[in-house]
Amino acid sequence: MRILQVLLRQLFNKPATNRFPASHAPASTAGFLARVTADSSVLIPPVPTPPGFRGKVGYDREKCIGCQLCVKICPAKAIEFLPEDKKVRIFVARCCFCSQCNDVCPVNCLSMSEEFLLSTYDKYAEHVIVTDNKS
Ligand code: SF4
Ligand code: SF4
Repeated sequence: MRILQVLLRQLFNKPATNRFPASHAPASTAGFLARVTADSSVLIPPVPTPPGFRGKVGYDREKCIGCQLCVKICPAKAIEFLPEDKKVRIFVARCCFCSQCNDVCPVNCLSMSEEFLLSTYDKYAEHVIVTDNKS
């Protein structure tokens, strides 16, 4: 019986998520985007990230001393050492956003950004391989 109460309550509760990126699911994405371009529909921004959010790893290549501590601690094997440059690159598609690399880095050149719109069909796409914050 309790489950019925919960179900009924849910019927009248506001949704817990926002309807990003559109207030109503568009019948046609192309048509919707055309309306956005023509200013007759609006994109809804994603919800703001809470403090301490762990999004895409940021990397200040210049500050990196090539110590490899991040490579050793990463449980997802998402960080590759580049011996010729003594720098690293991070494969975001493998990252589990644990922040251990960020915590262990002795020169604070890694960070957890607020960026989370990272879906892609190509795990080697440019925006999911971090080589430098400035690139
Ligand atoms: S956040 Fe965790 S999984 Fe992602 S690169 Fe850093 S150590 Fe690896
Ligand atoms: S822990 Fe920091 S300084 Fe060391 S290799 Fe990784 S990013 Fe560079």
